[in-house]
Amino acid sequence: MWWPRSTPKPRGERLGFLPGLRGEGAKARVVASGTYAVILILAQDLRTRIEAEARTAYPNECCGLLEGMRDGGTIRALAMHPSANLAPDPATGFELDPVLHLRLLRCLRGTGREVVGCYHSHPNGRPLPSARDRAGGGEEGFVWVIAAFGADSAATIGAFHGAAFEALALVADPRPGGAVA
Ligand SMILES: [Zn+2]
Repeated sequence: MWWPRSTPKPRGERLGFLPGLRGEGAKARVVASGTYAVILILAQDLRTRIEAEARTAYPNECCGLLEGMRDGGTIRALAMHPSANLAPDPATGFELDPVLHLRLLRCLRGTGREVVGCYHSHPNGRPLPSARDRAGGGEEGFVWVIAAFGADSAATIGAFHGAAFEALALVADPRPGGAVA
């Protein structure tokens, strides 16, 4: 996957509590990554839209960027930015549009928001990083959301981060996350 190396690489912080969360999210179990923890809060409407994109793109992979905010080890996805899949073989891989990525980085400068990760789908696959995904390389704090979607099945979603693509805790937030750009 293409993305600028200038993307910030914040380190997770030790989480004793989840700041800014109430109700269900506050009780979410945090999956530890060594002594650090990272959780992704994904608004239900964004999840629904990612699944819809996976369905529309099928049998190809859909892809896009996730805009959001970080607070220590907590990452909140607030909006999604669908990209054309520029991979030469979009049924088995994805390539984000670098122009979209650069434009988004520029738009978010000074807003307190940033590109926190990306999403893509695995047609008839599993919601796990593929060998190809791993070869593309992950980075600390950069989230990968993977939606597995079969022609006759509901989508399942996994979320990963870091160079080792460690699974992270995915917390559903029933509140609207924001508009599709
Ligand atoms: Zn993949």
